[in-house]
Amino acid sequence: MAKHVLVTGGAGYIGSHACKALKAAGYVPVTFDSLITGWQDAVKFGPFEKGDLLDRARLDAVFAKWQPVAVMHFAALSQVGEAMKEPGKYWRGNVTASLTLIEAAVAAGCMDFVFSSTCATYGDHDGVLLNEETPQTPLNSYGASKRAIEDMLKDFGAAYGLRSVIFRYFNVAGADPEAEVGEFHQPETHLIPLMLDAIEGKRPALTVFGTDYPTPDGTCIRDYVHVMDLVDAHVLGLQWLEAGKGSRVFCLGTGNGFSVREVIDSSRAVTNREVPIVIGDRRAGDAVQLVSGSARALAELGWKPERSTMPQMIADAWRWHQTGHYEG
Ligand code: UDP
Repeated sequence: MAKHVLVTGGAGYIGSHACKALKAAGYVPVTFDSLITGWQDAVKFGPFEKGDLLDRARLDAVFAKWQPVAVMHFAALSQVGEAMKEPGKYWRGNVTASLTLIEAAVAAGCMDFVFSSTCATYGDHDGVLLNEETPQTPLNSYGASKRAIEDMLKDFGAAYGLRSVIFRYFNVAGADPEAEVGEFHQPETHLIPLMLDAIEGKRPALTVFGTDYPTPDGTCIRDYVHVMDLVDAHVLGLQWLEAGKGSRVFCLGTGNGFSVREVIDSSRAVTNREVPIVIGDRRAGDAVQLVSGSARALAELGWKPERSTMPQMIADAWRWHQTGHYEG
C-alpha cells in the first residue's frame, strides 16, 4: 500500500524539493499549502491539498482522506527582518499554526513528525561551532517561534507518544540539479537569489547588510547546505522514525562558515560575472556567525551532504535561476 506523507509547505522552496526526494524514495508526498508564499506550479510529485494550518477542520479532513504515515512540517514564516517588525504574525503563523497541526496529527493517530527548525534558535554564541546541545537563545521572533514549536513537540511526545525528528537547518541554498523545482520567493530576501538577480541586472545591486561585524572581513558568517542534501536528511529522518528509533534533534550544517563577501567571491568564479554591490546597515536580528557541527547527523543518520560545496550550490542555483520560475 502506498505510504502517504503529509508535507506542509510542499509548494515552497524546501518542501517542494522534499516532495521530489520522498517520491524517489517510494513515498507519496501529499502537499498541504495555503499558497500564500508557495506555488502550485511547484507541486509536481504528488497530490495537492490547499488549506491553512489554522483551519483545524480542514486538517482533520485531509488526515482522514490520506491517512498519512507521517508529517513533514515545512510551512512557516521565515524572514528575520519581518519577524522583528511583526512578532505577532510569527507567533500566530508559526506557533499557533503548528499547535493546530500537531493536535490534528495526534487526533488522527499520525505519530511520526519531522520538523523544520532552524539555527536561528541559537542566537549569538561568540563563534563557537554549534551543535544539538548548544543552548538556544534566539535573537528574533522567528527563532523564538521555532524554539517554542520544538518545546511543543517534546511535550506532545511525553503526553501522547508523538515521535519527532527535529532538524535545525543552517542556511539552505542551491536547487534541484534537474531544475524541476527551485528557490522562488516573492518578495525575495535571501542572499544567494538576490545576488544572482543583481548579476543578471534584475536588481540594481546587492546590499551587503553590515561590514563592521567582528569577523575577518566584517560581514556575517553562515553555514550553507545544499537543498538536495537537506531533503535527503529528511528522508533519512523519516526512516529513522519508521524504524522506531524515537525522537531526536539533528543539526544540518557542514561545519564550514562563509562570510557574505566570500559568497559573493564564489559567485564571481562560478558565473564569470561581477556582482554589483552596495554596502548597507546591519539587518536587525542577524547573528554574527552561525556554523554547525554535523557529527550527529553523519554518524547516526548516515547523512552524506555531498553537494554542499559553495561552487556547487551557486552553480545549481544559477542554472535554476536562468531557466526556472513559477507563474502561480
Ligand atoms: N544578506 C545580505 N544582503 C541581503 C540578504 C542577506 O547581506 O540582501 C546577509 C544576511 O545579513 C546574512 C546572510 O546574508 O548575514 C544570509 O542571509 P539570508 O537572508 O540569506 O539567510 P538567513 O541568515 O537570514 O537565514
